[in-house]
Amino acid sequence: MDFSLNEEQIELKKWAHEFAEKEIRPVAAEYDESEEFPWPVVKKAAEAGLYSVDIYMQAQQDPTGLTLPLLMEEIFWGCAGIGLAIFGTGLPLSALASVGTPEQLMEWAPKMFGTPQDPRVAAFCVTEPQAGSDVRNLRTKAIRDGNEWVLNGTKVFITNGGVADVFVVVATVDPELGHRGQASFIIHKDDGGIAAGKKEKKLGIRASNTTEVILEDCRIPLDRVLGGIDRLENKLEKARKGESTGRSSAALRTFEVTRPAVAAQAVGISRAALEYAIQYSKDREAFGVPIAQHQSIQNHLADMATEVECARLLTHKAAWLAASGRPFEKAEGSMSKLKAGETCVKVTEQAVQVLGGWGYVKEFPVEKWYRDSKIYTLFEGTSEIQRMVIARALIS
Ligand SMILES: Cc1cc2nc3c(=O)[nH]c(=O)nc-3n(C[C@H](O)[C@H](O)[C@H](O)COP(=O)(O)OP(=O)(O)OC[C@H]3O[C@@H](n4cnc5c(N)ncnc54)[C@H](O)[C@@H]3O)c2cc1C
Repeated sequence: MDFSLNEEQIELKKWAHEFAEKEIRPVAAEYDESEEFPWPVVKKAAEAGLYSVDIYMQAQQDPTGLTLPLLMEEIFWGCAGIGLAIFGTGLPLSALASVGTPEQLMEWAPKMFGTPQDPRVAAFCVTEPQAGSDVRNLRTKAIRDGNEWVLNGTKVFITNGGVADVFVVVATVDPELGHRGQASFIIHKDDGGIAAGKKEKKLGIRASNTTEVILEDCRIPLDRVLGGIDRLENKLEKARKGESTGRSSAALRTFEVTRPAVAAQAVGISRAALEYAIQYSKDREAFGVPIAQHQSIQNHLADMATEVECARLLTHKAAWLAASGRPFEKAEGSMSKLKAGETCVKVTEQAVQVLGGWGYVKEFPVEKWYRDSKIYTLFEGTSEIQRMVIARALIS
C-alpha cells in the first residue's frame, strides 16, 4: 500500500492550487459580499482547461480515482462559492452521463459547458418545496402530449438555476409508481416555459447561484427524456408489473461514487482554515508569547489537523473504491461526505476560536469559511441521510 501521490497527481494538484491562489482567493471576499455569479473566474477556468468536459473525462479514466478529489480540495481551498460555480455543472453532467444515451451525451455535454471564449453552465433540478430528502414526493409532472413532453412544477434551491443554459429536471411521469415513476429530462433555457424564480440569499457559498426554477407548460421533444423513450417505457412497464429493474441499487452506487468529490470540497475548506489558524497562532501574541505556545491552542490545532487528515483519507479511499469498481460495503462514499462535512463545520469553528474576536469579523477569512462550511452537512444528502444510508449498509 502506497499513500504517496504520483508525479502526474502532484502536477495536477500544483496546477489547481496555483489557479486557486492567483484567480480565486484574491476575489473570494468580493463575490461573497456581492453574491454575483463569478463569470470572469469561470471564464479563466475554462481558458485554463479547468472548467471543461475533458477534465471529467480525464477523471473518469484515472484508475486511482483521485483526479477530482485533488482538484476539488485545491479549488475549494480557494473559495467554496466560486468552486461551486466552476464545478456545479459536474452534477447535471454526471446525471447525463449515467442515464443519458451516448447520442444525448454527445449533443448536450458541450452545450452545458459552452466554449472557453463563451462558457455556459448547467443545473440539476430535483428538490421541490415539499421534497428535499424525500425525493419520492416530487410533484413536478411530465405529461406526454403527442410527440412532446409538457412539464409543470417548481424546483427550489437549484445551484446555477438563474445562470444555466441547460437543465436536467427530474419529474414524475406516473405518480402512482412513486419513485419508480420518475424520469429525467433535458431542457434548454430557450425551449420556453422554464425560468428562474426567487434567488436565495444565503449564509455561505454566496458566489454560487441558488434559485427556484419554474416550469410552466414547458414543451420539449419526446427524445429529451434521458435514456430515451423506449428505456423509459420499459422501466415503467416493469414497475407496473412490480418487477425489479435493478435501478435503485444502481442509483445508490451513483451516490456513493459522486459523494467523495463533494467530501473533497469540504476537505479543501477545512484545510484552508487549519493553515490559516496555524500561521495566525505563530504571529499573534498573548501574555508575552505567541498563542501557539499555549497548550489549549495547540490542542485545537492538533485536533483540527487530525480531523482533516481522517476526512481526506476516507475521501480518497472512497474515490479509489469507486474508480476500481469495488463494492461500497459500508457505504464508504456516504461516510466520506458525512465525515468531511461535519469535520468542515467543526474545524472552521475551531479556527474562529483560535483567532478569538478577529475570527468573528470579515477582516479575516475564517469567518467566511465558517459560514461556507455548513452547507456540507445539508446538500447532496444531509448528515442524517448519510447516517441512514451507512446504517442500512451495515445491517442489510
Ligand atoms: C445552497 C443549496 C444548494 C442546493 N443545490 C441543489 C441543486 O443543485 N439541486 C437540487 O435538486 N437540490 C439542491 N439543494 C437542495 C438540497 O439537496 C436539499 O436542501 C437537501 O436535500 C435537504 O432537503 P430539505 O432542505 O427539503 O430538508 P428536509 O428533507 O425537509 O429535511 C429537514 C431535516 O429533516 C431531516 N430528515 C429528513 N428525512 C429524514 C429521515 N428519513 N431520517 C432522518 N432525518 C431526516 C434532514 O436531515 C434535515 O435535518 C441545494 C440546497 C442548498 C441549501
